[in-house]
Amino acid sequence: MPTPINVQLAPQLKAKPDQTKLGFGQHFTDHMFVMDYTEGTGWHDPRIVPYGKIELDPAAMVLHYGQAVFEGLKAFRTEDGRLLLFRPDQNMARLNRSNDRLSIPPIDGDFIIHAIKELVNLEKDWVPAEPGTSLYIRPYIFATEACLGVRASYRYLFMVILSPVGAYYAEGIKPVRINVENDYVRAVRGGTGNAKTAGNYAASIKAQEEAKEEGYAQVLWLDGVEKKYIEEVGSMNVFFKVNGEVVTPELNGSILQGVTRASVIEVLKSWDLTVTERRISIEELYEASLNGTLEEAFGTGTAAVISPVGELNWGDKKILINNGQIGEIAQKLYNTITGIQNGSVADTFGWTVQVETVKA
Ligand SMILES: *Cc1c(COP(=O)(O)O)cnc(C)c1O
Repeated sequence: MPTPINVQLAPQLKAKPDQTKLGFGQHFTDHMFVMDYTEGTGWHDPRIVPYGKIELDPAAMVLHYGQAVFEGLKAFRTEDGRLLLFRPDQNMARLNRSNDRLSIPPIDGDFIIHAIKELVNLEKDWVPAEPGTSLYIRPYIFATEACLGVRASYRYLFMVILSPVGAYYAEGIKPVRINVENDYVRAVRGGTGNAKTAGNYAASIKAQEEAKEEGYAQVLWLDGVEKKYIEEVGSMNVFFKVNGEVVTPELNGSILQGVTRASVIEVLKSWDLTVTERRISIEELYEASLNGTLEEAFGTGTAAVISPVGELNWGDKKILINNGQIGEIAQKLYNTITGIQNGSVADTFGWTVQVETVKA
């Protein structure tokens, strides 16, 4: 474990935003975590400092070649005032897989969880209490060495910032309309699809914007080779219930391995439901919708947890799912997983990690 975390407190604290109008990622807390990497020294100088601007050399490699990875997890306030993290070890394991793919040096996951707990504990008054709200935690790493040569950077910055976020479903869960993307692809096998890296998002924005213009909430991504098999929906993993069987695309190298995806699979198994990870073609879903066996569709991710899909638009074909209503399994999964996260449902899986609150 690196040296203790140096803490420099903000001289002045910000006013807290209205908990009923938080939105997503618009407000940032008073402090942030920072740590440096230098080739030869390794990760060093972990510190909590006042939230604020950072200085970057104009030649910083991230600005040119995009060597950057990130994570996203949340801290929840329980009814009795405890603060819980949801499976942070999974986020750290994934961060190191992303690091490996982007040739960024690995981090000590246990140390970062310790740092996140310290930071969240310091900012505990920022964790909102309104139903459905949480404190979003964004760890990220990027290349800072000033150099225009194309190679792995010798210097990096690791940061964690915190943002109180509102209830994703302020007006109840409503299934969304999704456009099946036929032109652009998000990722290909052998590429960076299974890493949480900035470039994947940069590549997805244009399709997302075009879908929005056409009145769709998100894009459904097909595989990059044959444009035949389902990969993900927006920045979520995706599940379908077809003829009583729950199916989700198998991890094939271009799909991001979601923590929510893994949790959904475990919860479904604990209910004795069959979950199959396999290739699913859009054609198969269309056929299933025609013969009445496409029962449910939903996306999974940290932000929404479960996001039901009410309609898929595939070229000139419309696939209506469960009459545009949320499915039974999607609703039950949403209640169970959000319940475990906020402490209102017993955590029989051992997924939550309590943030110590400092004793007076
Ligand atoms: C982060 C992410 C997900 C969801 O992962 P969770 O760990 O469940 O939040 C799915 N797809 C993509 C492309 C992502 O970046």
